[in-house]
Amino acid sequence: MRIGFIGLGHMGNPMVRNLLKHKHTLKVYDVVPDLVRKMVDQGGKAAESIADTAKDVDVVITMLPSSPHVRSVYMGPSGLIASAPPGTLLIDSSTIDPLTAREVEMDTRAKNCPMVDAPVSGGVGGAEAGTLTFMVGGEKADYEAARPILECMGKNIVHCGGPGNGQVAKICNNMMLAIEMIATSEGMTLAAKLGMDPKVFAGIVNTSSGRCWSSDTYNPYPGVLDGVPASRGYSGGFGSDLMLKDLTLVTDAAKSARHPVLLGAIAQQVYQKHSADGNGGKDFSSVILQYMTGSPP
Ligand code: NAD
Repeated sequence: MRIGFIGLGHMGNPMVRNLLKHKHTLKVYDVVPDLVRKMVDQGGKAAESIADTAKDVDVVITMLPSSPHVRSVYMGPSGLIASAPPGTLLIDSSTIDPLTAREVEMDTRAKNCPMVDAPVSGGVGGAEAGTLTFMVGGEKADYEAARPILECMGKNIVHCGGPGNGQVAKICNNMMLAIEMIATSEGMTLAAKLGMDPKVFAGIVNTSSGRCWSSDTYNPYPGVLDGVPASRGYSGGFGSDLMLKDLTLVTDAAKSARHPVLLGAIAQQVYQKHSADGNGGKDFSSVILQYMTGSPP
């Protein structure tokens, strides 16, 4: 396939490398020329602009920071909607709000370009290993068309329903994850303060009803698990600022749906404070530091 790819950052770079490994032809674009040069060294062809990326390709994939970037790349005067020939399949893998995803999809459909939203979970590690989960929103036929391409970059490619539903799945999942991580942090630090050995306590939780992914696979308490960010000063992993971004998307979406997300809103504020305290670059499990007075053990 001839594929155009826009957004060559932390996620886009390894995703392009996996597409190249599967012998696709890649035309790549980013506003940062150095990132384009890196991909050309790997076998991609440099595009001059967004419009040029959409020329002579079958598919365009975008992997951009947030909703305003997606709006401008798709809806701007020289954006994808203005320049992609009818029939070009458009795949947006950025995490954005479902309403923007639906608006962009409506406009692409009016230009006869099929589009799916396909945000990912799995982080940079999953992108490197080609094991991402893609949550895909869009018409079933467009999902089927996108699937073989997404399979070059991921392991689980799930159809979530109509346009925007990929984003719905992504942000609601991450809201649950944030709440669960804060709950685990609260319980772990309280048990330690009341005199329990955190490792013994985690062992009990993980065979009891308090067990969750944050307690048994990604425990935030230092020294409980090996190989997780908590055991290396919260470096690597999924940044607290990225979690804050997803929580802000989900609370905004809940506001527009007039649906209460009481714990989601608290989680958003906890991460906002955590970020304001200078922890935005640390893995999201570092939120436990909000409960540790003095230096962490
Ligand atoms: P990033 O900031 O590293 O990369 C985004 C790239 O888009 C940058 O290189 C930027 O220069 C480029 N860009 C911005 N505006 C552009 C424009 N108008 N034209 C061309 N290029 C433009 O971000 P990332 O970490 O790669 O994340 C991308 C998306 O994936 C985000 O929506 C993020 O929430 C989501 N995501 C990230 C992770 C992660 O662990 N990093 C995990 C899951 C989902």
